[in-house]
Parts: sequence; C-alpha cells; structure tokens
Amino acid sequence: MLLTTIAGSLPKPSWLAKPRMLWAPWNLSGPELAEAKRDAVLVALGEQEAAGIDIVSDGEQSRQHFVHGFLEAIDGVDFARRVTIGIRADRYKAEVPTVTGPLVRRRAVHADEVAFARAHTTKKLKFTVPGPMTIVDTLADEHYRDRRRLAMEFARVINEEARELVAAGLDVLQLDEPAFNVYMDDVAAWGIEALHRAIEGLACTTAVHICYGYGIKANVDWKGTLGAEWRQYEHTFPLLARSRIGQVSLECANSRVPLALLGLLAGKDVLVGCIDVATEKVETPDDVAATIRRALEYVPAARLFPCTNCGMVPLPRDVARAKLRALGAGARLVRAELGAS
Ligand code: ZN
Repeated sequence: MLLTTIAGSLPKPSWLAKPRMLWAPWNLSGPELAEAKRDAVLVALGEQEAAGIDIVSDGEQSRQHFVHGFLEAIDGVDFARRVTIGIRADRYKAEVPTVTGPLVRRRAVHADEVAFARAHTTKKLKFTVPGPMTIVDTLADEHYRDRRRLAMEFARVINEEARELVAAGLDVLQLDEPAFNVYMDDVAAWGIEALHRAIEGLACTTAVHICYGYGIKANVDWKGTLGAEWRQYEHTFPLLARSRIGQVSLECANSRVPLALLGLLAGKDVLVGCIDVATEKVETPDDVAATIRRALEYVPAARLFPCTNCGMVPLPRDVARAKLRALGAGARLVRAELGAS
C-alpha cells in the first residue's frame, strides 16, 4: 500500500538541455541527442529507484515540452506556423503551432521511449501524454475551429498512440489535463467524453493528472488570485468519480485545496501530491508523512498513492533528487505506522 509515484517530469541534465526552463533548447543534435536522451532516461530511472519510488516514469527526458513533444509526429499540426497566444484562459503566453488540416498520426511518437524505459527498470512504468483538452488549449486552430471537435480528434490520435505504448510495455498511461482546472464547464460538456475516447479499449491502468501548473511565476501569481480555498476540483471530481478513468493525480502539498474534496473521488485511486514543485525548499520525510496522514482521512490506504504535485522539470536537479528521496522516505514512515511494508 501507499505505492509512490511522480506526476511525470524530472529536470534534465545540463549536458542534455538548458536547465531551469520550460521549452529548453537541446544542447545536442542528431545521433548525439538521441544517445544523450537515452542516457538521461537511465539517470532518471536510477534516481527514482534509489529514492524508493514504486511506479517510475522516464522523467520526460526525451521531449522538449509535455504537450508539443507529442504533436511533432502528427500531420495537420504545422510547426512552421507558430503563433503566440494566451493559454490557460490567457494566464500566460506561449508560442504554439497551428492546426491547418486533418489530424493524422504518421508514426508512433513515444513507443521507442517506452520500450527503452521498460527494458531498463523492473519497476512498474508510467508514461504521460497530454490530454485532449490541454492539447487543444496549447495550439492555434485554423482547421476544425471547434474545441470539442478538435479534442475528440486528438483523443482518437492519443488512443492510437496509447495502444502502441501498452504493447511496448507501459503499466500506467497518464493523461495530463491541467486545463481541467481552468475550463470546468468544458470538462462537463466534453472533457470527460474526450478522456473516454482516449482510453478506449486500453489494457493498462489509466490516470488523469489535474494540477495548478508548474511552479513558474505566472502560475504562482494566478494561484494568488484563487482565494483562501481552491475549489476547482469540486466541479471535476464528481464527474471523474463516475468516469472510466482509474486514477486521479492532484495537487495537495502547500496548496489551498480543501482535502475534504478528496472524498469526492470515492472508488478511484488517488495520487496525492505530497511534494510542492513551486518551491526549492525540500520537504522532510515528516512533511510528506503529514500530508499522507491528512489525505488518509478521506482516501483509503489501498487507494492512496503518494506523488508530486506536478512535474519537477523546472527545478534544480539536486532539489528534485532530494524531493524524490523525501517522498520515498515519507511514504515508508506511514507504511510502518500502518504495519505494512
Ligand atoms: Zn501538473
């Protein structure tokens, strides 16, 4: 019980990409870049295993950004037509590609990455892909001109990809949907339907990650406007509880989410964020244990998975490594209290 996992990303080594930034440029190209990515995955797996993380990821070492990495092999998405738009309800600006034609997946995007990670760890393997709503919110569209329709098209493409990733050996497919905390009406109108299309027929555990974003300034400022209690999850959790998604990954550590909202996820596995990714201050194992104990008031131990609030890619590597160790150690403390190993 209390199996630990991470939301997905880890910082990249400085020999691979420029540290401490999103959309960081690669430091290498061609075969050297491919080799460096694989080496970075080995480091990411090793650091998680050393920290006692039970369900590991490749640390998203092979993609420049969690959304655009997936889009690079999709026909209909034109990276030559980049435009700057406001994303997440105009919270911050991003340079995004444009949808200019029907979406067609040319080839598997991440199957080689899953196969490589699978071959180098005996732990359960989780892999993340962006969810349909978050993809739709992170590009410009001049073809479908309808967010729901575009989301359902991306859900189809994600499903095609996911079937190959399952065949390559992943145990958990996680769809990242930070946009679910922004467009709550759309979650009800078509967001869950798009998730269901994306996971249709998959022979693996499925998860959705919903957070308040990376620890970058625009997100920290936004959180400051959300008031004393963050109740966004109150709209989406009842919908997810009735959905066919198996696990929900959410933000808890240092957040103003009322933990009683976790009770709305009855019947689901809950990946409880016990590590704050918006601060370089490293949690102690006791801090992590305290968050787990508070969540246990609302989530049974067999369904509680201690996790990070969000991806750690913007953090310094030594900080991320120390936070991983605190996560593993904090979970072990509570397991011992509960008489489990
Ligand atoms: Zn996140």
